[in-house]
Amino acid sequence: MIVKPKIRGFICTTAHPRGCAQNVKEQMAYVRKMGPIAKGPKKVLIVGSSTGYGLSSRIVTAFGCQAATVGVFFEKPAENNKRTASAGWYNSAAFEQEARAAGLYAKSINADAFSDEAKQKIVEIVQQDLGPLDMVIYSLASPRRRHPKTGKVSKSILRPRDIPFTNKSIDMDKNEIETVTLPPATEEEIQQTVDVMGGEDWQMWIEALARANLLADGFLTIAYSYVGPELTHAVYRHGTIGAAKDHLEATAKALDKRLSKYHGHAYVSVNKALVTQSSSAIPFIPLYFILLAKVMKEKGLHEDCIQQIYRLFAERLYNGKAVPVDEAGRIRVDDREMRSDVQVEVQKLWKQVANENLYQISDLKGYHEDFLRLFGFGLQGVDYEADVPIETPPFMEVASPTD
Ligand code: NAD
Repeated sequence: MIVKPKIRGFICTTAHPRGCAQNVKEQMAYVRKMGPIAKGPKKVLIVGSSTGYGLSSRIVTAFGCQAATVGVFFEKPAENNKRTASAGWYNSAAFEQEARAAGLYAKSINADAFSDEAKQKIVEIVQQDLGPLDMVIYSLASPRRRHPKTGKVSKSILRPRDIPFTNKSIDMDKNEIETVTLPPATEEEIQQTVDVMGGEDWQMWIEALARANLLADGFLTIAYSYVGPELTHAVYRHGTIGAAKDHLEATAKALDKRLSKYHGHAYVSVNKALVTQSSSAIPFIPLYFILLAKVMKEKGLHEDCIQQIYRLFAERLYNGKAVPVDEAGRIRVDDREMRSDVQVEVQKLWKQVANENLYQISDLKGYHEDFLRLFGFGLQGVDYEADVPIETPPFMEVASPTD
């Protein structure tokens, strides 16, 4: 099939197999160029390993630390040579191929990570193939979750809390600035967002592995959070998703205590705002993001997921010193985003930005390029006119209760 991008709202409904593979290879090449990470983990589970921060975490642990990796994700296979697989499917297929070629163990399951069945399957695989894990990276971003015990389906919603919020935003279909008002979430909506994006499922993963004696001495687990500047607080940190991140961060503290018997730790790393499939759907954030990217690129500070995660491993977690944390106990790799000179500049641009100057004072063009790259389009060295096979060998699937 000759695969072209088909964009609908926040997603692209097609993905290019060779472009996605190229994306993975470029990330691998970056890690190889930066060099090995001494004393990194050797047996790692990544929950949410197919795109964004989770994929980069898998690449850094495999190619930077020489780790055996097990990945869990929820992706779509290609259908009858008519519909391409999702980008995360192709990323994971390419990752496995490259990892095996490099002599690294890699196994993936395509399953609902929130289910007991997925956890049980991973326990079996780890028991059989690897033995106790050194690390679990929790990088899920999902719009919904079926609770494995109660069966309740919760949806994550992106809203302010308490009062409506009105501000500039950008319509990425029309490339136009607009004013958007979001009504405040109800208590039930806040709770559902916490159910989906909070720490309960992370804790369930660690408990399932602990029950099966699969946590090694010195075990580490890490999940990803975001803080951002005042400008985004109403919709992010003080919004429904912020309530979920508060819960995730509190879970890290509780897990950290429980892991002391393994001489282990649970951390949250606060990462920078980046274009991923999940972050593009958050209201107001894409406008902030294109102004931030403009400023960070001009200052030579821009990073993608792979640079962020490499820095997290090489300079925060495994640099031979105590892991540096902020006053709330979190690791920060959003330090460059949060620099005051960066934020002063972004605020200035936010006040100025209008349809007339959009392309001059923002990185809108870069955003669209980055967005397409998530789906394997626009990569150098890929022939987009070529007829390419869209089917790849299937991943192990795990049945879980349907709605
Ligand atoms: P992403 O959309 O790129 O990746 C989400 C991953 O979760 C994918 O691998 C997907 O397959 C998997 N997934 C979703 N639902 C699943 C399910 N039910 N079962 C199994 N797998 C499932 O997202 P991302 O932006 O990389 O986000 C990962 C984490 O990083 C999130 O906690 C997010 O809040 C955090 N974070 C993101 C940003 C950002 O700007 N993108 C910044 C800081 C922190």
